[in-house]
Amino acid sequence: MLPTQLVKFTESYPANMNDSRIILNVGGTRFETQRATLKKLPATRLSKLTPQLSFYDPILNEYFFDRHPGAFSQILNYYRTGRLHYPTNVCGPLFEDELSFWGIQREEVEPCCWMTYTKHRSTQETLQVLDSLELDTVRSTTDDIVKKFGWEDDFDLITSGHLSNRKRLKGIIWQLFEEPRSSLVSKIIAVISMFFIILSIAAFVLRTLPAFEIAEFTLVNVTIGYNRTKQAIISNTQQRKIISSFDTIEWICNSWFIFEITLRFLVTPSKRSFCSSILNWIDFLGTFWFILTYILYETFYFHGYNAALDLVSTIRVARMFKLCNLHPRLKVIITSMSYSSSVLSLLIFFFFLAVMVAGASLYYIERLSNIKDNQLISIVEGVSLAISTISTLGVGEVVPKSLSGMIFGAITTVVGVLIIDLPMPIIVETFANFNSHLQTRQQLPKQRRRVTPAVIPRKIKPLIPPNGHVRY
Ligand SMILES: [Zn+2]
Repeated sequence: MLPTQLVKFTESYPANMNDSRIILNVGGTRFETQRATLKKLPATRLSKLTPQLSFYDPILNEYFFDRHPGAFSQILNYYRTGRLHYPTNVCGPLFEDELSFWGIQREEVEPCCWMTYTKHRSTQETLQVLDSLELDTVRSTTDDIVKKFGWEDDFDLITSGHLSNRKRLKGIIWQLFEEPRSSLVSKIIAVISMFFIILSIAAFVLRTLPAFEIAEFTLVNVTIGYNRTKQAIISNTQQRKIISSFDTIEWICNSWFIFEITLRFLVTPSKRSFCSSILNWIDFLGTFWFILTYILYETFYFHGYNAALDLVSTIRVARMFKLCNLHPRLKVIITSMSYSSSVLSLLIFFFFLAVMVAGASLYYIERLSNIKDNQLISIVEGVSLAISTISTLGVGEVVPKSLSGMIFGAITTVVGVLIIDLPMPIIVETFANFNSHLQTRQQLPKQRRRVTPAVIPRKIKPLIPPNGHVRY
């Protein structure tokens, strides 16, 4: 016979113990906590634990979850303290998976851990951009080509297993021109293409050299003294004639460009995306303008060159961008520039703001100083002086003459250095980020081993009623 007090204690104690404390086995590590702690975050997996769940093990009186124990310790800590921090030894996506398993929003992470949380996100974004650039040196397989051209339900492919000769040739030509690093022949084609681009640009630049000009002279009658005329030679500077070998070089280069763009257009999988590419437009306009000017010269007998017509043909220099396709790093530089466009536009905005303020101020400072040789006649001169000062070029044709103007000019130079130099690290960092990812990506294998989903055996209902008390 037990005393009344002790009976009361033994009746209430085990029941209270089991109710208030709970054991969670996560991936082999046992965690113990109060039941009340888990109720702190309603509508999460842990707040709804009951012995009826399949996770419950009545023999060990614990809940078993086959999840990451390291990540779980932070999640359990969230229930205890109300603050969710990232574990430092775990990769971002893994922790996010864990969070979604436990029914916790990832936005609940504390601000001090946001950087860790966004880091992998930006890495994934960068890798996606690199993927879209198609920088791979790996040659695409026949399957890739079939998919790219949309030939999956091609009649010949389904019935006989291979494509018709015409389609196969189309695929081969496409690969030769669009995947410059895929085979030896495509490498040779790339080198030829590069050679013609450089040759065409070199011809464009060299033809303006006076050494390659043919001086044209005309005979004029000059009156000397009284009633005597003599013939004199005057060089004709209005029309300049260029030695004809430049035209031959241009024709050879442009024949290649026409051949290349026509062939590429014929074999492209999507005519629409081909026509929306800026590079193709540059290529087309460069050649088109060359032929147009040639026709104009021939019909109107310009003999030589016309500066206005040649100004437009500067577009052919933009063909240089085609070289980007041959070199992945160049493509990455352009991409990182466009990724930093928000910073660049901010830079331009601040630059113009500073130019306008400094230009107007310089003009009024000089005017108020009442000095004799004032060079800043209007705000236009002031602005042009401010541009050359802030961009730290310093042309030096127009300068402030008064003492206050000189001091203000010096301040403007310092401000200019700050404005130009401050956003630079951001652009450089973007490029470094892209570049390091590119390097890592090129060293990694393309194909990964797939993990098959686990086959979970069907749950057998426990023989012992799941009331939490097991007695043997
Ligand atoms: Zn934190």
